[in-house]
Amino acid sequence: MGEKFKEFYFTGDQRLHNLDELEKEYEQKSGDISSYRGRIFCPECRIAELAFTHKTSKKRAFLSTLPSSDHMANCSLKYESVSRREIRDYVSNLGEEEMQDRLEAMLNRMLPREREENQILANDEGDNPFTILVRREGRPNTRKCIPRKSLKSWFDKDEENNVFLFYGSVHLEVKEFKTKLGETQYRLIVKTKQDGEWRIKTTIYRGKNKDEIDQHQNYDLAIIGQIEFYNNHPQIKTVSSSSIMFRIR
Ligand SMILES: [Zn+2]
Repeated sequence: MGEKFKEFYFTGDQRLHNLDELEKEYEQKSGDISSYRGRIFCPECRIAELAFTHKTSKKRAFLSTLPSSDHMANCSLKYESVSRREIRDYVSNLGEEEMQDRLEAMLNRMLPREREENQILANDEGDNPFTILVRREGRPNTRKCIPRKSLKSWFDKDEENNVFLFYGSVHLEVKEFKTKLGETQYRLIVKTKQDGEWRIKTTIYRGKNKDEIDQHQNYDLAIIGQIEFYNNHPQIKTVSSSSIMFRIR
C-alpha cells in the first residue's frame, strides 16, 4: 500500500504535482507542509482528499486517501495496486493490438490533445483504462489499479522492480549496442524537459526492436514497466515488448 499516489492534485494552483515536491518541501521546511494541508487531492478524480506520511528510516514517504474521504465511483485509485505478477499475467494474456489500444486510452486521459478533448469526455464512461480485473483460481475476481508515475518525477532506488505506468512528453533517440554474443540490439534514450532543456532521463531496453524515431519530434510516451538501476542509472524494462506506446505530439 501507499505505492499508488506518485502524484497529487493541488488545489492551490489546480495542477498535478509529483510526490517528490512535497517530500522536498518537508525536508527544507523541517516538516512544515502547512501550505499543502487540506489542499492535496486524488490526481484522478480530484474529489478524495489525501494525507501525506513522511519518510522514516524504514519506509519512504507516501500519500494515502484520508479515511473520511471517498473517491469518485469510477476512479481507479480507490483500488489496491496490482502486484508485479498480476500485471505480468494480465499483459501476457493481451494481444499486441489490445495492449496498444489500452495504452492509447491511458495516454488520452493523461496527456489529452486539445482537439480531442470533447471526444474524451464523451468516452469517459465505461471501463477505466487504469484498472484491470485480476483473476485468481478459487477466489473472486478483484479490480486493481496500475499505479502511474510521471517521467518528470524522481526515480528512487527504493522503487526498483516496482511496476508503474510511466508517462510523459518526451524526446526519443534510438541507440544501437552489441551484446556480449555480438548481437545487435537497441535502446531508446528518453529525454524530458529539465530547466528548459531536453536532458536524458532514462533508457528503455528494446531488444531487437528498432523503433522509427525522429529525434527532434515531441512524443507522448506510455510504458508499463519496472525501474531497474544499472551503474546507478535508472532504466525502464517493459513488461512485454508491446507494453510501450509513443505517438507524435
Ligand atoms: Zn480518486
